[in-house]
Amino acid sequence: PTAELQALDAAHHMHPFTDGDALNKKGARIITRAKGVWLTDSEGNEILDGMAGLWCMNIGYGREELAEVAARQMRQLPFYNTFFQTSHIPAIALAKKLAELAPGNLNHVFFNGSGSDSNDTNIRMVRHYWNVKEQPERTVIISRWNGYHGSTIGAASLGGMKGMHKQGGLPIPDIVHIDQPDWWSEGGDMTPEEFGLARAQELEAKILEVGPEKVAAFIGEPIQGAGGVIVAPETYWPEIQRIVKKYGILLIADEVICGFGRTGNWFGCQTLGIEPDIMTVAKGLTSGYIPMGASIVSDEVAKVINAGDEFAHGYTYSGHPVAAAVALENLRILEEDGVIDRVRSEIAPYLKAKWESLSDHPMVGEAKIVGMMGSIALTPNKAKRAAFAAKSGTIGLITRERCFANNLVMRHVGDRMIISPPLTITKAEIDELMVRARKSLDEAYEKIKA
Ligand code: PLP
Repeated sequence: PTAELQALDAAHHMHPFTDGDALNKKGARIITRAKGVWLTDSEGNEILDGMAGLWCMNIGYGREELAEVAARQMRQLPFYNTFFQTSHIPAIALAKKLAELAPGNLNHVFFNGSGSDSNDTNIRMVRHYWNVKEQPERTVIISRWNGYHGSTIGAASLGGMKGMHKQGGLPIPDIVHIDQPDWWSEGGDMTPEEFGLARAQELEAKILEVGPEKVAAFIGEPIQGAGGVIVAPETYWPEIQRIVKKYGILLIADEVICGFGRTGNWFGCQTLGIEPDIMTVAKGLTSGYIPMGASIVSDEVAKVINAGDEFAHGYTYSGHPVAAAVALENLRILEEDGVIDRVRSEIAPYLKAKWESLSDHPMVGEAKIVGMMGSIALTPNKAKRAAFAAKSGTIGLITRERCFANNLVMRHVGDRMIISPPLTITKAEIDELMVRARKSLDEAYEKIKA
């Protein structure tokens, strides 16, 4: 029974990013099964997953092929490591496939267990890179406030989530932040184009403040996900690209959310015209069926790392054969089912038209969407792009709870609502998502007015 499970859960299970008090009072929603874009909970409710789990179920739930591949691989070779000059076929095949799919000269793959530890790998790798190049003073990595790069101490340091920093120990030394390109909330009187340029130029100012000879890399998500699906103005990334080139610093694109079709191309960099030296990937790499992450690096970065002393870094599960086999099968499905082509040519334009139509709602300001990741800013005054007087997140939480009650998973970040459904969602399911979203917004609006 649900109540019994909830009591056990609250008694023994410490949840990530969950208010323990709320869990004790209300209990968790317990998910028992899933198929396509639909979750079933322990009460038998059918819930439309507008978030693809945690932005990861790119091919949707319940693909038997992945289960079969995992079982087959577990029987043949359930584990072997890739340390000390050993390898195995799934890791080799997956590295080759990722090198083919990744843009430009990103041809080398270091496997990790998740997005967080991939970004930890990146911190260590770029510092080692500059060591080998005999510029060991280049240790500083610049990232952005309100960016999210994971929860390990390194990745959370790269991240600019002030709430996380406040809980202690962050950031580790030599990680500094610049402001995010969020025009809606922070653009003031500037046009989006002026603002995008100004925020990108903060990178140059920070490089000069730190000293160009000390800067190792800049990291950013092509589109900030957990920060609220913040889509930078068009002027932003070209200027960032110009600045990193000018100072010869490495550019890391965190593709953990944007990768594997989310923006309508294999990688967000291709959608936004970014040319990174390193890409962080996870989530959609296996469509969430099994944990895996990777750092995909350029020929130049790999050449330098390989020329130096052994890179003293790695995880027991780097290149885990079962995870690698599942990832390969996931990539095969994305490719052979034409999932990403369909997103780009058909499903994303359909969702975009529907999503943007929400801006006629009295409580909705900016409605942004790129590919299959979108957000709406909730506001009491659209013209002024005003924030609600209540503590940030209050109205978002009310709206999320209405979504939950209407069996729709939408996430809130502060007072922004977010969607990122499986890429395989149908048009009829998008229609259903929109009906539930609008109903939830109406109910939240009534509640706030009352
Ligand atoms: N980077 C980005 C952009 C993310 O969105 C996330 C997770 O949401 C991470 C890194 C961390 O990935 P993981 O939760 O797999 O450690």
